[in-house]
Amino acid sequence: MTASNETSGTEQAIRLSNVCKSYGDYPVLKGIDASVARGEVVVICGPSGSGKSTLIRTVNRLEEINSGSIFFEGQDIHAPMGGRALNRLRSRIGFVFQNFNLFPHLSAVDNVAMSPVRVKGVNPAEAHDKALKLLDRVGLAEKAFSYPGQLSGGQQQRVAIARALAMEPPVMLFDEPTSALDPEMVGEVLNVMKSLAADGMTMMCVTHEMGFARDVADRIWFIDAGEIIEEATPEDFFRNPKHPRAQRFLADLR
Ligand code: ADP
Ligand code: MG
Repeated sequence: MTASNETSGTEQAIRLSNVCKSYGDYPVLKGIDASVARGEVVVICGPSGSGKSTLIRTVNRLEEINSGSIFFEGQDIHAPMGGRALNRLRSRIGFVFQNFNLFPHLSAVDNVAMSPVRVKGVNPAEAHDKALKLLDRVGLAEKAFSYPGQLSGGQQQRVAIARALAMEPPVMLFDEPTSALDPEMVGEVLNVMKSLAADGMTMMCVTHEMGFARDVADRIWFIDAGEIIEEATPEDFFRNPKHPRAQRFLADLR
């Protein structure tokens, strides 16, 4: 996307500036500088324990940071703010977890309709109608009144995506959304993510699904030991990874 066809505000959806985070005296993020443009899909990959989850969780402030800043549409999301402001901010940054995190006592449609009613004050009937449409969009119109326990993992994850979309977030974050799924269910979730990307959603996805990365990502961030050590297009990353640790990571996947 070029600045010339940008209609409102800043071109960057998310910008991280020298973000550092430690657990105790163990540094997990060591000065992350990176940004995501509007409409861009970034795939974050790297070895287990490298800081991928911590990084993505700082972006909607599920984790605090020790220094640096993170801007979402120009707003400093780690600035001091009250609980309501933080909830409002979080509601604009959709988050999809590895383990779905649905409310077990609510049907699919109620899981999807809940936050718009609670956080945004949307009229319940309207939220319900919209939730049905979103479930249709993720291919689950027939499961609207099923409970999470009656759904497969892939179906639950699609409900979780619909639930995040219900808040109409301009940005969606995914932390290994298919890692907890049986292999035959991975595709249905990736297809929903692909269709979101095709619709122009700004996305940050932590995933080990390199086929998805190759087909859908605009850019790959390779993170190792708390640093982004390579940032490249999928073409460059897969064909010609520059950093030895990225080369090793890719070799181990084969
Ligand atoms: P990844 O998602 O890349 O596997 P994480 O971001 O989950 O990595 O973790 C990065 C490092 O931080 C790991 O060494 C992990 O053990 C450590 N870590 C993660 N969460 C915590 C926590 N709440 N307390 C202490 N250490 C943590
Ligand atoms: Mg992780």
